[in-house]
Amino acid sequence: MEPIDEEDIKMYFYENRLKTFEGWPFDEDCACTPENMAKAGFIHTPSGNSPDIAMCFFCLKELEGWEPEDDPQKEHISHSSACQFIALKKEVEKLTVEEFFKLQKERRKLIINKSCSEVVTKFEEAAVLRRADLVKTAMGEE
Ligand SMILES: [Zn+2]
Repeated sequence: MEPIDEEDIKMYFYENRLKTFEGWPFDEDCACTPENMAKAGFIHTPSGNSPDIAMCFFCLKELEGWEPEDDPQKEHISHSSACQFIALKKEVEKLTVEEFFKLQKERRKLIINKSCSEVVTKFEEAAVLRRADLVKTAMGEE
């Protein structure tokens, strides 16, 4: 069994997820407060012009365009029904080691799948450009 990497498992814990919500645009009188977001497995992953992007640390589903009345738990389930974290029936702290490792294995798979599909997308984009170049060159030579 692989040793546990502290940094890698950090986001399994509510407190660590909650800390990422600094600057989150929804604070009071709404359903998607930082507390509710963190409870539903989200971490805050803002980018330049989108301050309200949140991603599930587990299934890596990114959601943006939050409205104050959005319930993070419900949004998570409706956009990523296969997420095993949101489906957990107990708190992470109460999982057995075996249950935890099973989850972590799933999460690793999701991370690998995501980074592979990013590489594939980049490759396909580059291939499209290259093809356009080749076509241009071929046409020019006629
Ligand atoms: Zn999820």
